[in-house]
Amino acid sequence: MKRTVLVTGGARGIGKAIVEYFAENGFNIAFCYKNSEKQADDLLNKLLEKEVNAVKIKCDVSIEKEIADMFEITKKAFGFVDTVINNAGISHINLFKDETLKNFDNIVSQNLKSVFLVTKSYLPDMIERKFGRVINISSVFGEEGAGMEVLYSMTKAGVIGLTKALAKEVGPSGITVNAVAPGFIDTDMTKIYTKEERDGFILSVPAMRAGSPADVAAAALFLSKDDSSYISGHVLSVNGAYRT
Ligand code: NDP
Repeated sequence: MKRTVLVTGGARGIGKAIVEYFAENGFNIAFCYKNSEKQADDLLNKLLEKEVNAVKIKCDVSIEKEIADMFEITKKAFGFVDTVINNAGISHINLFKDETLKNFDNIVSQNLKSVFLVTKSYLPDMIERKFGRVINISSVFGEEGAGMEVLYSMTKAGVIGLTKALAKEVGPSGITVNAVAPGFIDTDMTKIYTKEERDGFILSVPAMRAGSPADVAAAALFLSKDDSSYISGHVLSVNGAYRT
């Protein structure tokens, strides 16, 4: 049966690479975006030109009602979404002593509540169909922590906790839940670092290069496969052997 994937934050960066790679590998594609309307249009047109069965949805994944609407759109378009990739996220750099409750609430909404809400929406159908793949994009900072990115690291560690626990709960239903933990990947998100900071990161990467969005997409595709069914609750590091 033809597979269908939903990628959150799919219009640019890592999400876009995932959309393109899954499309090349025969998936029906649903992707959402929040602000990147033009990139979403361009990507959808590119997919449709290649005769990929694809839809784009404007959805802020921190808002429950918008996710409910997105679920209805994907259901109408494809029936069953068997693979959910929780990719959307924001970065946030600040000294911990300067953090505020507002910053805390915002990053939890964007990076963790979003994963909870999106997964919760799509899981019942997966349970009913006894098949599903949930792939959550965490971060090496969620595994190791990073100074000046405490709140970001906390949310990405939360994503790992959700992944491992949910894998146990839904394993009997034929659903796997895994995380991908990228290291330094060249996207808009990492453009906040100066060239010196980027070079400094790369010096500590044994692979001697930054990662590309395609590196992360390859890991996600692997975890999505039918024959990856015995891999669950796993955190797949995609970081060129980098550790903080
Ligand atoms: P980008 O900043 O390039 O892209 C972020 C994406 O997330 C955009 O597509 C954006 O959509 C989407 N997004 C953010 N908030 C929302 C929201 N509330 N609702 C819907 N979409 C949203 O980041 P990357 O591609 O680099 O990052 C993708 C994921 O990978 C993130 O979860 C990030 O934390 C993680 N990651 C990235 C690393 C890196 O080095 N780049 C390293 C480790 C993890 P839009 O533009 O439409 O608003």
